[in-house]
Amino acid sequence: MTATCSCGRVELKALGRPIVSSVCYCDDCQKGADQIEALPSAGAVRDPDGGTAYILFRKDRIECCKGAELLRRYKLKETSATNRVVATCCNSAVFMNFDKGPHWVSAYRARFRGELPPLDARICTRFRADGVALPDDVPSYRGYSPGLVVKLLASRVAMLLGQ
Ligand SMILES: [Zn+2]
Ligand SMILES: [Zn+2]
Repeated sequence: MTATCSCGRVELKALGRPIVSSVCYCDDCQKGADQIEALPSAGAVRDPDGGTAYILFRKDRIECCKGAELLRRYKLKETSATNRVVATCCNSAVFMNFDKGPHWVSAYRARFRGELPPLDARICTRFRADGVALPDDVPSYRGYSPGLVVKLLASRVAMLLGQ
């Protein structure tokens, strides 16, 4: 699968199946979207209902193959372990990763081209804005979904086993 920034100078390649695809409504993702959407000529990071859609990949299965020098990390606080990585050419949010620890990268779903994996769940919906009605096409969870946690653990085990 290929993801690009909106002007096309940055390109990511992801190999194999993603771990999961979910929409997150958590307060950090909303703050992160505020931060990025405030950059000059940045497009919307969130969907109109306030959720941010991601496709999660093992970090050994996704790489920036073009324009890596244009990437810049944004943090909510200087001490945050989470980075929201933006293509500075057009201020597109490209992916989210961690300084250390977790073994996955959350790529912004809107950046992918071609056929996308189906959505699995909406998570952290207790943070959504008042009055936002969620579609019932996939399950919604007030916190993290147990299925998501299981899939993340399973992918970690597979990675450790070299599969
Ligand atoms: Zn760009
Ligand atoms: Zn979130």
